Amino acid sequence: MDILYLSPHPDDDASWSAGTIYTLLKQNNNIFEYVFTKGGKGTLNPNLRGSPLRKIREQEALEFRKKFHLAKLEFLDYYDQGLPFNKKIVSEILNLLLNHSFSVVFAPYHKKSWLKNHIDHINLGKAALKAVKLYNQEKNINLTGENQNRGFLPLMQYHSQKPNCFVDVSHLSYKIYHYMQDVYRSQWHTLMTKLPLRYILSYYYGRYISSKKAEGFYLSYPGTKIKIKKDVKIKYG
Ligand SMILES: [Zn+2]
Repeated sequence: MDILYLSPHPDDDASWSAGTIYTLLKQNNNIFEYVFTKGGKGTLNPNLRGSPLRKIREQEALEFRKKFHLAKLEFLDYYDQGLPFNKKIVSEILNLLLNHSFSVVFAPYHKKSWLKNHIDHINLGKAALKAVKLYNQEKNINLTGENQNRGFLPLMQYHSQKPNCFVDVSHLSYKIYHYMQDVYRSQWHTLMTKLPLRYILSYYYGRYISSKKAEGFYLSYPGTKIKIKKDVKIKYG
């Protein structure tokens, strides 16, 4: 299947969904990633801020694409810490959805949470939610029973505080997580990469679906009446 992955910054792929992305790619799915800023503010070093860091992070993202064989990686070049929630960004995402047949969309969660409350993440989450809602409303498919989930586009939001959907990543070791985050060397100053936080979290989320490890997402079908009633367990492959 073809998957759309929306990232506010280079590194949000490996930071928030490393195990899921790795598993999806191993199963020969195609990941089309769009990175909305080049993350020019993501440094403790004042000399690197702005365009030097943007260049470095762009290269890291391209390296990630090559190393993990993403079908596409494209930048939209909004300002780091200035990503807006407006009609333009919603229609940019909606156009991506209309021009290609995706099976699922990954985007950041749209509300503040202890996991992430960065404005770029929140606004991109809001824009993705709105775009998928418009897309699903446009489709307006009347399917019932078991088929009802098939016609509409699901949205999987990462770093939600209250995930309702868990991707089983029991088969992946810490080595894989490290291997994926390793590409984003410029971000090694953050706690996220210094400590295997995402990996530790996967043990916690594994308990929700009685497996060893899992990654949590907030799954919804915006613009439809489909409700997720209980924790959804996904095992790719
Ligand atoms: Zn980010």
